[in-house]
Amino acid sequence: ENSGRLIIVAYRLPFKIVRENDQVQLFQNSGGLVSAVLSLVNEQEDSMFKSDDKIQWIGFSENTREELEGQSLANDSFQAHPVFINDDVNENYYEGFCNNLLWPLCHYFPSLARFDDAYFEAYQIANKLFFEKLDEVIQPGDVVWVQDYQLMLLPEMIRQKYPDNKIGFFFHIPFPSFELFRMLPVKWRKALVDGMLGADVVGFHTNDYVEYFLKAARLVSGYGNKLHYINMSNRIVKVDSFPISIDFGKFNNSYNDPEVALARSEARESLKEKIIFSVDRLDYSKGILHRLNGFKRFLEQYPEWHERVSFVMVVVPSRDTIEQYQNMKMDIDQTVGAINANFGNIYWQPIIYQYRSMSYSELVGMYTASDVALITPVRDGMNLVCKEYVASRQDVKGILILSEMAGAAAELGEALIINPLDNQGIADAIEEAFKMPEKEQIKRMTAMRERIRDYDVFAWTNDFFTQMIMLEQEHERLK
Ligand code: UDP
Repeated sequence: ENSGRLIIVAYRLPFKIVRENDQVQLFQNSGGLVSAVLSLVNEQEDSMFKSDDKIQWIGFSENTREELEGQSLANDSFQAHPVFINDDVNENYYEGFCNNLLWPLCHYFPSLARFDDAYFEAYQIANKLFFEKLDEVIQPGDVVWVQDYQLMLLPEMIRQKYPDNKIGFFFHIPFPSFELFRMLPVKWRKALVDGMLGADVVGFHTNDYVEYFLKAARLVSGYGNKLHYINMSNRIVKVDSFPISIDFGKFNNSYNDPEVALARSEARESLKEKIIFSVDRLDYSKGILHRLNGFKRFLEQYPEWHERVSFVMVVVPSRDTIEQYQNMKMDIDQTVGAINANFGNIYWQPIIYQYRSMSYSELVGMYTASDVALITPVRDGMNLVCKEYVASRQDVKGILILSEMAGAAAELGEALIINPLDNQGIADAIEEAFKMPEKEQIKRMTAMRERIRDYDVFAWTNDFFTQMIMLEQEHERLK
């Protein structure tokens, strides 16, 4: 057990703050990170932190300072510390450097990346604002865990003033190969790499990302590595892969929830013999158009499946105030319309397309009703949807078709692995899935389910913190 507290620093706070009649209400997010972090302080005897301390969480506030003045921003588990960033800075920082530059670059869309000095300036200012808030909160012995591409400069800022606190950093998106990373101006790339190396442990989803980062550290800042360790003269940084996961038990146990069972049976009754399902946020990294093209090829080449298949494609609204995303949405709308118009008939609509979010029971209802989950990102740090699909299949049936460009593909080799740009490959994989004997489905699904059950999101956090704590002993050994 650690004697200090746990401090999380992330762009988002762990709850939504809603103001009503001068009071605030806090709605805790149900996302992966929040439940993962909670597992570190739960009442179990072997939990890493004392459960009588709340988790301190530093994050950007959508409310103004005045709106939150004098309000308590804590629930049973979390004490929030809001960071206020003015609109101009936040625009250049979050929309700009984070989502117009780092996001496309790290997802291998360099042509969409915009390089603007004002972006980098705002990124530095914003990281500093997070640091200033942390500076008010941190105490000796506290362990700080910094999250993601919005805060790459922060670990080094903390290290300089607080050399003795343990600091972890986790990068949730792909770390790109060096030929992409070097597109960043030298000063920027060096600041990002050095910033991350302020941590004791730097985590990524896959070994590839680890390798690319180690290469960047070598070429940008001249730090060599021995396996997973970088020796920084006065300390050692461990760089390793920790594939983020899901709450396996929750999805697995939902199979027989009345609402889930109802959603499942309604889907089966109203849809055709074979059901394909996909769900993702609206984003160019998700390969939605490629998926549609693959499905179109399937319909062209395998007419025996006409009128026997329903492809349910749900796209969850995201970033759709940005023109690029609006255009992509129009392309998707149009492509779906064309496929339905050209292949469908009065009794059969090949694609059932929705632009909205889903409730949990609808989602798991569809996961468990479908014969195939078709997941085709052109680039995805991990992709949790495919893990949720597998975990939901308590019946051990269903087939996962998964892009080799998703981080999850490194763990889910029993899926039908496709290249999202290969229409023919997608078409053939769908056909193969429809013909796959049940025995083969069970074999593949069982292997994938065991792997995710053994490394669920609680194992993920536990693994990360165990490595942080062990590093101290390894320092001694490596001296
Ligand atoms: N999800 C959601 N709303 C929905 C449908 C799905 O929040 O209407 C969830 C889904 O269950 C999954 C997450 O969104 O946990 C998507 O995570 P993933 O890693 O696949 O992609 P990301 O959106 O983080 O890039």
